[in-house]
Amino acid sequence: MAAALPLTLATMKLRDLANFADPLQTTKKMPVLFIGHGNPMNVITDNPFKTSWEQLGKQLPTPKAILCVSAHWLTDGTKVTMMPRPRTIHDFGGFPKALFEQQYPVAGAPDFAKMTITNVKKTAIEADFNWGLDHGAWCVLKPMFPKGDIPIFQLSIDFSQPPQYHYELAKELAFLRSKGVLIVSSGNVVHNLMEISWEGRKMDWAIEFDLMIKQHIENRNHDVLVNYTKLGKIMKQAHPSVDHYLPLLYALALREQSDELRFFNESFDLGSISMRSFIFA
Ligand code: ZN
Repeated sequence: MAAALPLTLATMKLRDLANFADPLQTTKKMPVLFIGHGNPMNVITDNPFKTSWEQLGKQLPTPKAILCVSAHWLTDGTKVTMMPRPRTIHDFGGFPKALFEQQYPVAGAPDFAKMTITNVKKTAIEADFNWGLDHGAWCVLKPMFPKGDIPIFQLSIDFSQPPQYHYELAKELAFLRSKGVLIVSSGNVVHNLMEISWEGRKMDWAIEFDLMIKQHIENRNHDVLVNYTKLGKIMKQAHPSVDHYLPLLYALALREQSDELRFFNESFDLGSISMRSFIFA
């Protein structure tokens, strides 16, 4: 027995060390967010959207990492960022210098990215070392986590795939929630840049579409939301291109039976961009 004790202690220490370093360690289930990001100027101006992101960051449990699915990373094939230090991408034009000077220096999350590649079975996800953080990611995550001390990685949207692909792929990301990863999908429930009103005048069709989507989310009508092509003319009006709609499917697919739904930022930016956001927790 006397000889067994040091061995047990040594084993325990080794095991504890292994747990400490192990990204596979299970944690309390993390929430899932869908954020309406809107106009990138929101990150450098005072506005209720930015205030809500700042407040949310203070309320959320501290994640081990963040996976962002952004409307602004559209690819052929699905990719995941694997770099140790993702750059801040200023993927927009015609904005003031102050916006281009914004940086969000954070660490990447290569271990979680590798885990994602390994765990997703239905599609082959490719490691990416070129992207970084596009404005769909950093414009909302910087106000949420201003210290920049949470590692972030991004998953691209394969724009050549049908909607069902995105929904099924997202279901396979569910394991990340219990590994301490906060999944943030960033798009807009209504996004029509051709119908922008600088006075913020809301369009009837935009209000109608936004409320219709809200009801379908509340009623868990995921079939209707995935098969959005059947929504007809109003879908085309709300989304002339579906880049900002598809992130919604990633969040929806991650909803579990026990998750509560809460909407926030239920308003519009520039009249034709719905900022409706929600959290599953
Ligand atoms: Zn956008």
